[in-house]
Amino acid sequence: MKRLCVYCGSRPGSQPAYTEAAKNLARALVNRKIEVVYGGASVGTMGVLANTVLAEGGHVIGIIPQAVLGREVVHRGLSELRVVTSMHERKALMAELSDGFIALPGGLGTLDEVFEILTWGQLGLHQKPCGLLNIRDYYRGLVDFLDHAVSERFITEVHRAMLLVEEEPERLLDQFERYKAPAVAKWVDRTSA
Ligand code: AMP
Repeated sequence: MKRLCVYCGSRPGSQPAYTEAAKNLARALVNRKIEVVYGGASVGTMGVLANTVLAEGGHVIGIIPQAVLGREVVHRGLSELRVVTSMHERKALMAELSDGFIALPGGLGTLDEVFEILTWGQLGLHQKPCGLLNIRDYYRGLVDFLDHAVSERFITEVHRAMLLVEEEPERLLDQFERYKAPAVAKWVDRTSA
């Protein structure tokens, strides 16, 4: 893996554990010589992640829509800043540049990014791993809901298994190395009938 995308909060969250987690992930990525792609902001856990990667000597690519560029939240000290025309283009470029996707705790933007990339994986549009860093069990309710959706047969087990969940960045990165995408894309899946 050369480059991973990190989705995370534009807010720091309520507990220091969230910013600590962003720092730990940043260090783990730099140790493995993995470059970071992210949303390009200087605020929240996004800013902490980018600053830590840079401080540790790593490479960070920020991808930002033109409309957000003029605002002060843009991180001006990144290794690379790519400006795109829309939020859709931003997510597409983040996906194209990255070999996998990690979500730290975050809000609606983070959830949108995770579920879009899982949906593309389900359709067989990419074969890249996607994982949650479940800090302080932040994602417990979401993971429980996905398991509920499997038992109600709206998500197949194969597609549910695309979402890896770990507390420690090293364990998640090890899982990424072993990841095998589902062999069956959603539209040819006959197992859930
Ligand atoms: P949220 O989880 O709602 O705080 O949104 C953060 C996620 O959405 C990040 O992974 C970003 O890619 C994107 N995002 C949301 N707001 C911004 C912002 N002001 N600047 C850059 N990216 C943002």
